[in-house]
Amino acid sequence: MIKIKFSFHGGAREVGRSCIQIEFENFSLMLDCGVKLRQDDGCPVLPEHTDALILSHAHLDHSGMVPALYRKNRLPIYSTDITFEISHMLQRDSVKINKLRREKEIYTNNDINEMRKSEICVNYGEKVKLRKNISFEMIDAGHIPGSASILIEMDDLKILYTGDIKTVDTYLQRGARVPRADILIIESTYGNKIHPNRKELEREFIDVVDETLRRKGIAVIAAFAVGRTQEVLMMLRNLSYPIYLDGMGQDITRIFMQYPKYLRNPELLKESARTARWITNNEERRKAILKPSIIVTTAGMLNGGPILRYIQKLKNDKKSSVILTGYQVEGTNGRLLMENGYIVDESNNKKISVKMEKHQFDFSAHAGRNSLERIARDVNPEIAFVVHGDQEPATELGKFLTTICEKVYVPEVGDVIEI
Ligand SMILES: [Zn+2]
Ligand SMILES: [Zn+2]
Repeated sequence: MIKIKFSFHGGAREVGRSCIQIEFENFSLMLDCGVKLRQDDGCPVLPEHTDALILSHAHLDHSGMVPALYRKNRLPIYSTDITFEISHMLQRDSVKINKLRREKEIYTNNDINEMRKSEICVNYGEKVKLRKNISFEMIDAGHIPGSASILIEMDDLKILYTGDIKTVDTYLQRGARVPRADILIIESTYGNKIHPNRKELEREFIDVVDETLRRKGIAVIAAFAVGRTQEVLMMLRNLSYPIYLDGMGQDITRIFMQYPKYLRNPELLKESARTARWITNNEERRKAILKPSIIVTTAGMLNGGPILRYIQKLKNDKKSSVILTGYQVEGTNGRLLMENGYIVDESNNKKISVKMEKHQFDFSAHAGRNSLERIARDVNPEIAFVVHGDQEPATELGKFLTTICEKVYVPEVGDVIEI
């Protein structure tokens, strides 16, 4: 077999700062370059030289350090058009938050502007040549609109990097299908967990919202701006109560509607977005909670964003609910709320006790254990690397993979593996 070197600069036995370097015949290719939660929070150590970067999708745990890598290397960056547009928005937001927190500057808005000149848009299924014997294509990963798995060919060897992947259909997108490859780099966020039936989960979610409104409460729904917000709007479009959209989800919804080719049902999103009332100022926020209503807003893990204003106002109202719609990372306000019943106000570090009803629905955008097994069987690789999962899910998926692959690696951050 030809010689290839894999370096895991991040996203190994952890979720966050995904950053994988593949070196072959003096060519150094980077797959993703992300941060943990924020710029200051555990960045990958960037290598001295990289020839090109392929970005799987816009989430900051994959895109958050790309401007820093560009600043260092001035390299070409490949991804889908919508991924570039969303990642710029998220990167700018992270620059802003960084400034507010007076943390060390890693890159500036100017770096993001400069980087745009080096970005090359790629369509799904389009074969891109990087060198005479190195090429790649991007395949719809079903995770968020524009997200991709990346199939790389080095000589005759095929390497598939799943990126973040979902194989089950959602309101927003069709599930992913994967091709065969010799080497598989697979995410393992839910490497040891089977997801509940999505349709049933949706019904339970709608019931909780409906019950809140019937008892004259406000349903405050925390949703990630990219993907979850739009799905929630589509799920709730038939409820006969006012539904408000607040925060960064508005900007992302606008972008999604500009790129209908990435959506399963663009008309449905348009209709759902039109049904919602878009909040633009504090006066509208005040009025929105005077009568039973649904508020869909950010941040999805309650760390900042307009949702904190709503919770502040409604914290003692037992008729109202705060409803989380995704995974809550340890240490976030969302996790604190579910485990301890309070959140922490970042400006003064004070605890805010929340008496509203609390619910969490994990509408995951990642493949569950069963889907991951199916992906591995379909790809049918000789060698597998397990990434993008905490210690336990990563090692458990690794164990399963040994039943179908000759060699399985569950690397740690900093590991370099030559094959
Ligand atoms: Zn993601
Ligand atoms: Zn991710």
